[in-house]
Amino acid sequence: MQSLFPSLIWKINTSEKVIYPTFDDGPIPELSPQILEILNKFDAKATFFCVGDNIRKHPEIFQAIIADGHSVGNHTFNHLKAWKTKGKKYLDNVHLCQQEIAKHMHQEKMLFRFPYGQFNLRIARQLKKNGFDLIMWDVLSKDYNPSISAKKILKKSIQNSQNGSIIVFHDNLKAKDKILQFLPLYLKHFSDIGYKFKKL
Ligand SMILES: [Zn+2]
Repeated sequence: MQSLFPSLIWKINTSEKVIYPTFDDGPIPELSPQILEILNKFDAKATFFCVGDNIRKHPEIFQAIIADGHSVGNHTFNHLKAWKTKGKKYLDNVHLCQQEIAKHMHQEKMLFRFPYGQFNLRIARQLKKNGFDLIMWDVLSKDYNPSISAKKILKKSIQNSQNGSIIVFHDNLKAKDKILQFLPLYLKHFSDIGYKFKKL
């Protein structure tokens, strides 16, 4: 996958001990503030790929993410599936999310992540043309999957992470119980061996 689509960003090339945590689907009052608290404890910066409609509903949580110095990216306004949505409708929805973000901040660098990792090349090309960096990942925590335990997610996430990794977590209710268990342990593990956590 990664070599087939080099115009998408899968990980950051570096020999430094750095990991790039990303959180998709928020902001939500039930979880985002707790994630922020955990990140702060480890002096970790992250990137939040936000759903525009959630920004609209919870502007104060979105503000808190920005105030803590994290990056935010676009995850469409309605969490659309690229394989089931017409190109124009999809791009309009991305634009709507970007307008919601723009109400709160000026973005020098526009980041985008495809919901469900679904993309097609035409949409990808257009988004790049519109100035977005398209962020994929090299480590998927699978924190949304109810049949995988927090312990196993932690183990796999640690095994798969390396210098420059972009790891996906979910700032949503499906992931909530598990993320609160494994996120501090994941950050502690890498912190203890000299890693820094940075935003994109
Ligand atoms: Zn998503």
